[in-house]
Amino acid sequence: MLFSQIIGHEDIKKKLIQSVKDNRVAHAQLFLGPEGTGKLALAIAYAQYINCTDKKENDSCGVCPSCKKYNSLAHPDLHFLFPTTTTKSVKKDQESELFMTEWRDYLIASKTYVDLHSWYSFLDVENKQGMINVRDASSIIRKLNLKTYEAEYKVAIIWMAEKFNIQTANKLLKLLEEPPEKTVFILISENQEELLTTVRSRTVLVKIPKLSVDEVQNALIREFQCDITKAYNTALLANGNWIQARNIISDDENNDNIYFRLFQKWMRYCFRFSASELIDFIANDIKPLVREKQKEFLAYGLNVFHNALLYNNGLKDSILLPEEEKNFLINFAPFISNNNIDLIIELFEESINQIERNGNASLIFLDDSFKIFNYFKMK
Ligand SMILES: [Zn+2]
Repeated sequence: MLFSQIIGHEDIKKKLIQSVKDNRVAHAQLFLGPEGTGKLALAIAYAQYINCTDKKENDSCGVCPSCKKYNSLAHPDLHFLFPTTTTKSVKKDQESELFMTEWRDYLIASKTYVDLHSWYSFLDVENKQGMINVRDASSIIRKLNLKTYEAEYKVAIIWMAEKFNIQTANKLLKLLEEPPEKTVFILISENQEELLTTVRSRTVLVKIPKLSVDEVQNALIREFQCDITKAYNTALLANGNWIQARNIISDDENNDNIYFRLFQKWMRYCFRFSASELIDFIANDIKPLVREKQKEFLAYGLNVFHNALLYNNGLKDSILLPEEEKNFLINFAPFISNNNIDLIIELFEESINQIERNGNASLIFLDDSFKIFNYFKMK
């Protein structure tokens, strides 16, 4: 993976490259940022640069023996840990090592822009929640204590470090604090809150922000040859998330922005407070979605409420939405005010948590619907 293959983040690339040139690569770093920003791609490009034997001014050479092995993600001194779960082929004692073939195939298929939902669907375990297990910690300790095969630095990339369970974290803490010589840990996380404080405090933070509309738009034009308007509208919808942008473009169904249609429908039924319509809606439109999609849908709703608040506070210009969604927002915004916004946000955040914890989606959405009806009356 070359830095030049990664969308945006020019400043971060420069800083990472400079840290190598100055010989001050921190041994434990945390790449923290939202989904779809290219954190893993940056981590791999950084690791490749660290070990490239013919470093160029702004990138790895791409052709030295080390780069060649990095290009196929098969360098013996590059290690990955990531969440796993039991599957049809691994029925127990799952750990990253048992999934390396799938992982490499997945990285290649997704061009290293990865997210939990698509990783689980790649493994065909969409409704399970993976973990980084204590077995993973044991095997990385074993590997890192071996001599480096051929690279200058051993690199361990831990994807979604918030999926450590407590035993894994405890086992890895000492290693993060006093790593074996010439070892670099790059932890990747999307959620600082879920990350254990003890892990966070032992790493140097590298914040990876959302991509800009321009960056996503240009990348869409380059990769999918779509026209400027379509690229622009898609970039707006994707909200700085390249994975989402790519999904919207490649999935015709999503071109109609399924969440927008669902949300419109749901709010209409909430206004009317029609129990039968709400029950049908939940059974036919919500229940069939996998849990990750239900969460995404609620997150989409949160975004609409947020935009409504901006709109009500005269910040119309900072709302970037396609025409149709903007029109909906103008009609919808009067129902949101300082009297109900906190309650609504709390409700949606709690619902996302409950779904994450395996809550019954039908009950959660039904309960939300009644509460929303009441909150609207408080405007
Ligand atoms: Zn090279």
